[in-house]
Amino acid sequence: MILTDPSQKAEYRNVWALAEVLSGQVQPVTYELIGASRALADAKGSEVWAVLLGAGTAGQADSLFAYGADKVLLVDDPRLAGFSDEWEAGVLERLMRKYKPDVLLGAATARGRALMPRVAVKANCGLTADCTQLGIDPENGDLLQTRPAFGGNILATIRCSSHRPQLATVRPRVMKALAPDSGRKGEVIREELLDTDAKKTKRIVETFQDKETVVNLGHAQIIVSGGRGVKGPKGFDLLRAFANKVGAAVGASRAAIDSGWISYAHQIGQTGQTVQTRVYIACGISGQIQHLVGMQSSDTIIAIDKNPNTPMMQLADIAIVGDLFEVIPEIIKEIDKV
Ligand SMILES: Cc1cc2nc3c(=O)[nH]c(=O)nc-3n(C[C@H](O)[C@H](O)[C@H](O)COP(=O)(O)OP(=O)(O)OC[C@H]3O[C@@H](n4cnc5c(N)ncnc54)[C@H](O)[C@@H]3O)c2cc1C
Repeated sequence: MILTDPSQKAEYRNVWALAEVLSGQVQPVTYELIGASRALADAKGSEVWAVLLGAGTAGQADSLFAYGADKVLLVDDPRLAGFSDEWEAGVLERLMRKYKPDVLLGAATARGRALMPRVAVKANCGLTADCTQLGIDPENGDLLQTRPAFGGNILATIRCSSHRPQLATVRPRVMKALAPDSGRKGEVIREELLDTDAKKTKRIVETFQDKETVVNLGHAQIIVSGGRGVKGPKGFDLLRAFANKVGAAVGASRAAIDSGWISYAHQIGQTGQTVQTRVYIACGISGQIQHLVGMQSSDTIIAIDKNPNTPMMQLADIAIVGDLFEVIPEIIKEIDKV
């Protein structure tokens, strides 16, 4: 909605996190969105509302409170089974006009990428996709939405000063969820889905799982990742041996993928997967921004590089200066002794 006067900003309150529901189950990215919303709402002295659209999902509201929501805006209707961007966009637009949230965060998943632009168009407001950082401008309360721009060569901070609500999407595993507190309770606000929320709807004929082989790096606790410094497919054999020893998955930089040393399914970064592991071990990866945005929120980062001055070595919690073809066999030898 266009603001004709900056004073109208005060009418828009609270930060909404749109729950990602797949096959009737709230997905983990929802809790990450609630965590990000909590920080924004605390900065503004407002509330976090989780928006739960689904069929038979009412019972999952408690988990949204546990992860930091103050209120759950619930629409539970059989027409919301599966995924209908038309119904969801329609009901969201109506509820946004009624409750006037300041911010709506959605997941930058296949579902969120289909839904959020539709909501933005209907509500006549902007949308910043794939944000890597969010904040509040202390001067005027605007949402500061940071994301890679110009092919990832810069990080741009985008604001939307003349429209409300402010819409943004965030990829899974970019933001951190808060530790759940099962004692935390909140209020459920029930709303109906109205016939007028969608004019015509698609019919879902069949739902199936993509059979393409997916290397699920998203759930790995440890990732051993290789870049151009690995020098070839044989270098990745060394990384796989290392990964097996420590129970890790294998990731890679785009330079390694473009060289044909390992498949795209392993790519981490802006045009690959985003990961948030307990331990990320970067081997021969310099740490250009396009790679860092895909792994920088990992808990502990270990880097092995000949050059101590790379961005990855500067970012790392533990930086090992040396030739990875000497360092990794030494580490494997030490593990074998245990
Ligand atoms: C639009 C766009 C999207 C992109 N998306 C991605 C993306 O999703 N993911 C991604 O990774 N990149 C992406 N890139 C590419 C990115 O800009 C970098 O080019 C790439 O990440 C570099 O990979 P690297 O660190 O492996 O290679 P380099 O930058 O060449 O670094 C190699 C490192 O290996 C070290 N090294 C060499 N030999 C050894 C050795 N024997 N032992 C130890 N260290 C050694 C070197 O000192 C160096 O630090 C993208 C680029 C663009 C323009």
